[in-house]
Amino acid sequence: MTALPSHLELVQGVVLPKPVGAHPVLDFVNTRSEWTTRGPARTEWLTSYDAFLTWNGYVGLLAPATATRPANDSDHLQAVLTFRAGLYDVLAGQATDDTFEAVARVIEEASGRRRLVRSGDHAAWELPEDPALPLYNLALLASELLTGESREYVRSCPSCGWLFLDPRGRRRWCSMATCGNRAKVRAHAARTH
Ligand SMILES: [Zn+2]
Repeated sequence: MTALPSHLELVQGVVLPKPVGAHPVLDFVNTRSEWTTRGPARTEWLTSYDAFLTWNGYVGLLAPATATRPANDSDHLQAVLTFRAGLYDVLAGQATDDTFEAVARVIEEASGRRRLVRSGDHAAWELPEDPALPLYNLALLASELLTGESREYVRSCPSCGWLFLDPRGRRRWCSMATCGNRAKVRAHAARTH
């Protein structure tokens, strides 16, 4: 078996990209390669609903066991991928009004499903344990990112289009191990030729 590239990890039999976004919502949109060339992804890591659940567990969002299996998981996966594409455009600052509305509807559906539950003297928002839970959980996190202070620190990698948080303004690439290294190699080649 050949070793995986250092930016990928084998998780319960599923190959997934290691998180580089510094926010789970940004790592969610980074589950396909090369947003800069729109159209089909050259590499798609959410290849099945199971892979999506495994990814949720990997980044610490939901243990796969807590998610109820949908009867038609390919429809659910399609809804996840459609939300991901819209969310990418919104976060990258290139969404049309229609795309923004479509993303907003998913977030509003998710908000409508929440229940405020008692937790001792505190209270917490909870989503019902049904097949939409992983998508709605991400939608609520996305709404926090879009409406919060971190929104202005979302940057996109000039090489691959992946998104990451850059609160100190020091990051250029999604990862030095991939895009940063490729740029270094290109710069070196330009100097020596
Ligand atoms: Zn990159």
